[in-house]
Amino acid sequence: MSFKTNINGHTKVFCIIGHPVEHSMSPVMHNAALKDLGLNFVYVAYDIKPNQLNGAIKGLKALGIMGFNVTIPYKERIIKYLDKLDPLAKRIGAINTVKNENGFLIGRNTDALGAKKGLLDAGCKIQGKKVVILGAGGAAKAISYILAEDANKMIIANRTEKRAIELVKNLKQNFKANAEGKSYSEKILREELRDAEILINTTPIGMYPNINQSPIPKELLHPELFVFDVIYNPLETQLLRYAKDIGCNTLSGLEMLISQGILAFEWWTNKKPNTNLMKRKVIEYLEMK
Ligand code: NAP
Repeated sequence: MSFKTNINGHTKVFCIIGHPVEHSMSPVMHNAALKDLGLNFVYVAYDIKPNQLNGAIKGLKALGIMGFNVTIPYKERIIKYLDKLDPLAKRIGAINTVKNENGFLIGRNTDALGAKKGLLDAGCKIQGKKVVILGAGGAAKAISYILAEDANKMIIANRTEKRAIELVKNLKQNFKANAEGKSYSEKILREELRDAEILINTTPIGMYPNINQSPIPKELLHPELFVFDVIYNPLETQLLRYAKDIGCNTLSGLEMLISQGILAFEWWTNKKPNTNLMKRKVIEYLEMK
């Protein structure tokens, strides 16, 4: 079928908006899956400067963009431009995926859903567990909100303690959660990790190019911990290497990245993408860089 190779007058567009956006893996995985299914769509990245967001949204609507992802720094700011949020996205207060239904924009948080799907697919049971989350930024917010009601206890430890406390305050206003915001100190982490069952790193510590850094020392880990690092570049971080060394089950950020992408793809196209292909293309792309 010619759609496998050609862009033509019928081609429709998906995109990601953010600032910056060149680092995004979404064009790589979505274009691979679209092409594989012979769908006449392309997926592109648009770097939108903060003072251009309003105009960009009008433009996306006017051009009939079918759906788009939203990345840093617009995951919260975008909400006022949308016509509807799904109930979970409304409670989280941040979205990363939008569907355009004839000019009516609907927002979802597939980051949150993708993180939970990644954990469950990896055999990590969340129900009744103690979860420690490092960091209190956008990824921590999505992940803590989606796991809050299943977890027995949640600790958010952040360099800026105030931000962790604020996150927990908002979390408790929207979800039934047993959670505490704390500072990111070795003493506190040592104490909290002793009886924790799930550790999630949402800080950028260990991300390319600082690939030999770990957000916590190896000695704070124990084999009963399930360790999830949301970083996907490198595919295996120093934290995950430490965790594997001492026998922990682990999950990399790649699984979350692919899971959120699958959820967006299925919502936009009503088709099941080839997930192995999406993953392979992202790995190939990261290894090429
Ligand atoms: P963000 O909103 O900027 O938050 C970053 C958090 O990390 C903040 O809480 C910050 O603490 C903390 N932090 C940053 N540098 C630190 C350091 N040197 N020491 C201790 N804490 C530090 O970023 P984000 O959107 O949450 O993204 C965080 C990471 O998740 C990035 O690596 C991103 O690529 C990854 N991510 C992955 C996926 C996926 O699909 N796998 C999805 C989203 C994000 P302060 O509050 O003190 O600044």
